[in-house]
Amino acid sequence: MSRRALQAGEPVLLTDRKGRRYLITLVERQEFHTHAGSVAHDALIGGSEGMRVRTTRNAELTVWRPTLHDYVLKMPRGAQVVYPKDSAAMLMLADVFPGARLLESGVGSGALSLSLLRAGAVVVGYEIREDFALRAAENVNRFLGSEAADRYQVEIRDAYQGIDAEDLDRVVLDLPEPWQVVPHAAASLRPGGILVAYTPSIVQAAQLHEACDNGQWTMASTVEVLHRHWHIKENAIRPEHRMVGHTGFVTTARRLATQ
Ligand code: SAH
Repeated sequence: MSRRALQAGEPVLLTDRKGRRYLITLVERQEFHTHAGSVAHDALIGGSEGMRVRTTRNAELTVWRPTLHDYVLKMPRGAQVVYPKDSAAMLMLADVFPGARLLESGVGSGALSLSLLRAGAVVVGYEIREDFALRAAENVNRFLGSEAADRYQVEIRDAYQGIDAEDLDRVVLDLPEPWQVVPHAAASLRPGGILVAYTPSIVQAAQLHEACDNGQWTMASTVEVLHRHWHIKENAIRPEHRMVGHTGFVTTARRLATQ
């Protein structure tokens, strides 16, 4: 599948020598324009990943199928997305597996949904904003196609009001007051189920711990994920000067059985 030629309708990533990245969808007879000239999509359609092309102004571009990481950072977004370093950790901490029955709220731009669906989960999303729900569905469909879209159902509703599901394996939260969802998650998760929540502020994480401290939950834990990139060139080997200092915290807890 992935070795087949690039086709019209596919998203592709173009990279230039300076590391700039452009995400486009291939359309027959269209042109891609940058300040460094243009390229006909037809020069890419039928080609292969890793192929180099030249713009009308002789700049070199390389074409790739975007990774999920590339796609999430370049796709259209309204709400702030969960960054790949955090969604990667959330997949492992929530132990997301193929066929897992999962509730996600809010859905936002669908960045986190993309990771959950890629890992094989069956996702019901609760999102209060219809425009975001539509954009998330489009983002999922464009990158993962109809097989994943069939496992993704977004409802326009307020997660603070309750969850209409039983026997969920996982509840995944990225909304301002996740503690308001904790009682609903307790009722909807099966024993042993996992709650995972992303919060930009540690005060939100602390409030979540407090909500889980009621005998229904155990193993509450919060982590932040820091990536420090390294500059490696000949003898100059050192950490990069800059790093992303803060995105958010990831809090997990596990549902006990009701005795
Ligand atoms: N995780 C998403 C971003 C979510 S941003 C991503 O990676 O793309 C937070 C979202 O929660 C927003 O879209 C907001 O509209 C939604 N939201 C806020 N309160 C909510 C509530 N009570 N119920 C459902 N969704 C809510």
